[in-house]
Amino acid sequence: MAFPTQRMRRTRRTPGLRGLVRETHLRPDDFIYPMFVAAGGDVRREISSMPNVFQLSINNAALEAKRVYDLGIPAVLLFGIPDAKDEAATGAYDPEGIIQLAVRAIKEAVPELIVVTDVCLCEYTENGHCGIVDGSSGEILNDVSLELLARTATSHAEAGADIVAPSDMMDGRVAAIRADLDREGFENTPIMSYSVKYASAFYGPFRDAAESAPAFGDRRSHQMDPANVREALRENALDLEEGADMVIVKPALPYLDVLRRVAESSDVPVAAYNVSGEYSMIKAAAENGWLDERAAVLEAMTGIKRAGADIIISYHAPDVAAWIS
Ligand SMILES: [Zn+2]
Repeated sequence: MAFPTQRMRRTRRTPGLRGLVRETHLRPDDFIYPMFVAAGGDVRREISSMPNVFQLSINNAALEAKRVYDLGIPAVLLFGIPDAKDEAATGAYDPEGIIQLAVRAIKEAVPELIVVTDVCLCEYTENGHCGIVDGSSGEILNDVSLELLARTATSHAEAGADIVAPSDMMDGRVAAIRADLDREGFENTPIMSYSVKYASAFYGPFRDAAESAPAFGDRRSHQMDPANVREALRENALDLEEGADMVIVKPALPYLDVLRRVAESSDVPVAAYNVSGEYSMIKAAAENGWLDERAAVLEAMTGIKRAGADIIISYHAPDVAAWIS
């Protein structure tokens, strides 16, 4: 049957009809809100390339966590900005490190909020790399980095993290982290693995936010080539085999095809990370009056969910939660 019997516009005529036939719905509990926790007493520093996103000291992070929880957002993802960095990234697994202290403070302030911690070394190494760098060759060493990543994840769990999220893209780190967590009695702590993480230009503003830009070289020896999708499916399958409980595709909007393929081939929840550059583009256009921010953000988030994301990690999360509830 075709026109004039079929008329697609029949069900688009009114807001009520459009709502009735809508296939994808956003809810506040689809979201995880990323936060940057900085050392210091009473810090609230706006990140110049990410309007309305702040580096927060622990006391202010706890207040912000309470605010987003009250908006209906069930989880936050923490990144740490330590006051000192060194070659061995000791701040990453220090029981009194910035993330470990922040987790304790946030869990005390908002016990029901799910606290997810980013597990990587790049915020804690002097050179800003995600693993230990060989002094002579400059190579990021895979296997020796695994032990430190595992130690970092376990120290987060000890501090009370509900979920650990390794973002380093070293081979074998999910298995190493799972083994260490289990050995230390954290067999119930889930791993949300950044299983598919591309070497993306859209991370630019994040590096201002987390002060983690590499001092030399780049991350293309461990993060994925943006041109590849079959490789993404292999990365994802390996992380699932190693014990990932949830997986992340990062970035989101330029990789919706990858997200779709990963979602179709995974039997675990799939998160999409709507990264800093995706956020800043909409914010900048909105500030110039070139885009309707609310409409553009809701359309982008709906697109990510429609492509297959069960969970969306986004700096827009508090705005979205306020708009839709
Ligand atoms: Zn890293």
